[in-house]
Amino acid sequence: MVQRVEKIELTTNFPIGPVNVYLLFGEKLTLVDAGLKTEQAWKELNDGLHNLGLTLNDIEQIVLTHHHNDHMGLLEWILEKNPVPVYAHKNTETYLCDEDYMYWCGEFFEKLFYEFGLTAEMAKKWAYRKRDRDLLVGLKINKGLQEGDEIPGLPGWEVIETLGHSQDHISLYYAKEKIFICGDHVIDGIHAGIFLDAPFRGKKRAKPLLQYMENLEKCVSLPAQITYSGHGPDIYNLRDVIYTQFERTEKRANRVKSVLAKASGTGLDIIKEMYPDRYKKGVITFVFEITSVLDLLQERHEITAEKKNGIYVYSLL
Ligand SMILES: [Zn+2]
Repeated sequence: MVQRVEKIELTTNFPIGPVNVYLLFGEKLTLVDAGLKTEQAWKELNDGLHNLGLTLNDIEQIVLTHHHNDHMGLLEWILEKNPVPVYAHKNTETYLCDEDYMYWCGEFFEKLFYEFGLTAEMAKKWAYRKRDRDLLVGLKINKGLQEGDEIPGLPGWEVIETLGHSQDHISLYYAKEKIFICGDHVIDGIHAGIFLDAPFRGKKRAKPLLQYMENLEKCVSLPAQITYSGHGPDIYNLRDVIYTQFERTEKRANRVKSVLAKASGTGLDIIKEMYPDRYKKGVITFVFEITSVLDLLQERHEITAEKKNGIYVYSLL
């Protein structure tokens, strides 16, 4: 039997445009991802199901590729109507439901932002937002997934851990028909953003860009015939799109290096130089991006970091 996959596009108010959610007609009718929590996306989801001759009540389970709010936002409303099992990476429940983690997350980011060069006031302002935005009290992830797991209700669909975009990102692969569902791991035409997640309390932070590149490498050899992405068009040339992602990363790393070639500076100095107009509107995505590039350059021994008055100053080696 051929695996049927249907896509529904749901509007977001993010620059990235709509998010794609998928219906997999497996042993269990499975919804992959759940859009942003807006009335418009809710209507589009219901209309999309209707156009396929389905309703919310036909969905038998939900799989999340990761915990970002354009991928899990409508979960609450769906589960209110139809309380089905939810599957996601083993870290996802902590990122969405653990209040203690949310508090720790605030502390963690306040320090990180300050060390990056944001003022104490800005660091505080931006660090404590996750709790208000993401906390989903009472959500239960029915099974925490990891590399190699078969997804319940979807025989033949395997989990490929693709951390980098977030610390709970998974992709799904159906080897029999070479179908790949990659969430935001690979997006055609744009550089998938790298976001920092606070580590679990007492643990060390991951270096997401390094993970991301390793996990892209892992997917290069995947013989996918069609790749369904979390945003943008279906991908038929996965390998080329992945190589473009590598090129984009190198370009970005080179830009950071050329800024540091002029003068040593803090993370914020680098952002101001690279994005003089854009950074004021949403500095945090740039903090994540530049932090991850600085990780990469440190790993490659191309730069050093020296802490001065609690703030890191980076220099080219
Ligand atoms: Zn997304």
